[in-house]
Amino acid sequence: MTMICSQCNQYGIRWMGMWGNLTHTECPNCGGENCQREDKDDGDEDAEDGDD
Ligand SMILES: [Zn+2]
Repeated sequence: MTMICSQCNQYGIRWMGMWGNLTHTECPNCGGENCQREDKDDGDEDAEDGDD
């Protein structure tokens, strides 16, 4: 799964923390924490991501 930063809209968000204990995500582009875009669960509100 690829996460996109909601602040700079760039890919590269990665989980930070120890294995089995990932505490937060970090964007290497802007340095933001937990700034990934919320992944759409099941709702098709904004289906611009043709990820099928
Ligand atoms: Zn960012």
